[in-house]
Amino acid sequence: MEKISLLGLEKNAIRKAFAEHGYEPWRANQVWLWIYGDGAKLFDEMSNLPLSMRKELADKFAITRPDIVKHEFSSDGTEKIAIKMIDGDVVEMVFIPDEERGTLCVSSQVGCPVRCSFCYTGTQGFSRDLTAAEIVGQILLMRDLLADKGRCNQKRVLTNIVMMGMGEPLHNYSNVSTALKIVMAPDGLAFSKRRITLSTAGVVPLIQRCGEELGVNLAISLHAANNKIRDSIMPINKQYPLEKLIEACRSYPGINQMRRLTFEYVMLSGVNDSDNDAKSLVRLVAGLPAKFNLIPWNPWPGASFQSSSQSRMDSFAKILMKAGYTAIVRIPRGRDISAACGQLRTNWPLLTSGPKQA
Ligand code: SAH
Ligand code: SF4
Repeated sequence: MEKISLLGLEKNAIRKAFAEHGYEPWRANQVWLWIYGDGAKLFDEMSNLPLSMRKELADKFAITRPDIVKHEFSSDGTEKIAIKMIDGDVVEMVFIPDEERGTLCVSSQVGCPVRCSFCYTGTQGFSRDLTAAEIVGQILLMRDLLADKGRCNQKRVLTNIVMMGMGEPLHNYSNVSTALKIVMAPDGLAFSKRRITLSTAGVVPLIQRCGEELGVNLAISLHAANNKIRDSIMPINKQYPLEKLIEACRSYPGINQMRRLTFEYVMLSGVNDSDNDAKSLVRLVAGLPAKFNLIPWNPWPGASFQSSSQSRMDSFAKILMKAGYTAIVRIPRGRDISAACGQLRTNWPLLTSGPKQA
């Protein structure tokens, strides 16, 4: 019998699974605290459970993290970790340390079905969605690596989570939302929703639900100010065009001047980076409480794009700022180990293939 991974279950679901095996609900609380409070990796570590129960639990359930198959370090401190799941599929996650915070960029799918033309992950094809256990497992694994045991009020090393790794999180909403609820649970990993950002290429029908159920920060991969350009670089725009996307952004719950949306905008030389593009952008998002992250395009083998020059990006940013928006030209992190935005791709054999429909 395949073991059930407890890492993908919310506390109530653990209670239910335990009840089916004759364990009382408070046992679920104990195990939950061991997993998330103490970072236990084995049932054997759960010293306040009877020995016989620890053994029974280990026979029926798993709390296994994914295996590390490669760990690379950038000269700027960024780390890229390739991890292998039980079925052999591999994804990458990236840890980005900063003075004030440590951010983990988490993957949601093996490959990506969206296939934006500027993104290396898109060239890999799509294998499958990650399970909630595999998503939570990435965060637990990083905490193990950092020896980070910080609870809510203590000093933490891993402070922020961004769903910006491989895959489109809203195409795997069910597992991503379960995982994030575990990550946010006050007696779980206790990350505040303000320290979690979900980035989407624009799966419009799920944006509202994501805001209502999770309330995390939302980042939209905008990358163009009109449908013609966006269609040509992001196939998803044909399904959910800009008007629909901006409409969904306007009604994202909890958005105001204090808590703004983030628009990501990859700067592609000669494609979307003119002053006119910047002016169209201002008109497109008029009235929306938003800030812009301008991302220099990160190169990958065989791509036909070029990043905009620094002066082009500065001029673009200036137009947005003049219109009252915060616009930051991002400094790429981890490029030397191919860990920057859009550079993640795993070359392990994929078990299944073929794009998934939205
Ligand atoms: N699938 C989600 C999240 C992962 S990608 C999304 O698309 O939003 C994280 C960010 O990196 C997105 O804004 C994406 O558009 C951007 N990106 C992809 N390829 C890039 C590249 N080569 N250089 C810079 N940014 C890139
Ligand atoms: Fe997928 Fe995001 Fe890459 Fe587009 S940018 S292919 S949605 S990972």
